[in-house]
Amino acid sequence: MPVDVADPATAAADALLPRPFRVVANRRETSDTVTLELEPLDGDGLAFAAGQFTMLQAFGVGEVPISISGDPARPGLLVHTIRDVGGVTRALCAAEVGDVLGARGPYGRGWGVSDARGGDVVVVAGGIGLAPLRAAVLEVVRARSGFGRVHVLYGARTEDDLLFGDDLEEWAAEPDTEVAVIVDRAATSWPGRVGLVTELVRAAAFDAPRTLALVCGPEVMMRFVGAELTARGVPASQVRLSLERNMRCGVGLCGHCQLREYLLCVDGPVLSLDAVRPQLGIREL
Ligand SMILES: Cc1cc2nc3c(=O)[nH]c(=O)nc-3n(C[C@H](O)[C@H](O)[C@H](O)COP(=O)(O)OP(=O)(O)OC[C@H]3O[C@@H](n4cnc5c(N)ncnc54)[C@H](O)[C@@H]3O)c2cc1C
Repeated sequence: MPVDVADPATAAADALLPRPFRVVANRRETSDTVTLELEPLDGDGLAFAAGQFTMLQAFGVGEVPISISGDPARPGLLVHTIRDVGGVTRALCAAEVGDVLGARGPYGRGWGVSDARGGDVVVVAGGIGLAPLRAAVLEVVRARSGFGRVHVLYGARTEDDLLFGDDLEEWAAEPDTEVAVIVDRAATSWPGRVGLVTELVRAAAFDAPRTLALVCGPEVMMRFVGAELTARGVPASQVRLSLERNMRCGVGLCGHCQLREYLLCVDGPVLSLDAVRPQLGIREL
């Protein structure tokens, strides 16, 4: 039977079909995290906004949501930074150059970086949370003169867990840009700060009412960082968080990622603090 491409059911099924991407690089970031660079086998790259994600598939193993950590100005190269925490992420991290993975998307609402134009930008990352924020920082750096002061505040468990060391150095060399790193625990040889990322927020100088804050990390960290930012005077509507929930379809059909009235795959993953503050305090929600 011929396929009716105008049929809504066919169109919906098409939206769930992964496209083939070839792995062109697999770079180890830390003991459990790699960055994959992928190129499409069947046409154009994926134009995306910083903060969006794809459903990334290891064929025969499974499919999981992974944020795009690459440069939005280079859609031909799909870049994902993946932490090995289970079956699918393990298979993705083990992908070798030449292997083919499936990707569909990009999905979701991103950071909306351009809303920060003319004001200050405070980026606060915890652990693997720097991956989706990397795309946002690259977008800011590319149009650096359009923004005020920029702070990249990054907390990791240990020095060995720090991601994107070269990027952090490059960003720190930009005008009016501060990159501050803090670790939870450290060997005595670590010359940097030890503590929580909230301390970096407290110490940073920014014009709070004219600041857009972008935050990604464990939910408890985002709750405390959100409280610190608003205490400093950043309006809750200008604090944006990237939320993670179990996602299956990525297109608002299956309901796995529902948070109150939001389906995080389409209404998020980036939402403002004022939209989700009541839910953030509820354990296991
Ligand atoms: C929008 C979005 C963007 C993401 N971006 C990235 C990214 O850039 N890099 C990256 O490494 N990971 C990212 N993740 C998390 C990633 O999707 C999960 O680690 C992955 O689904 C785990 O699948 P698995 O089969 O490897 O492990 P599983 O066996 O399914 O899970 C292993 C462990 O991780 C926990 N887990 C599974 N999924 C999630 C989740 N969504 N949030 C919190 N804990 C979870 C499980 O409870 C379990 O403890 C993102 C998730 C979302 C929703």
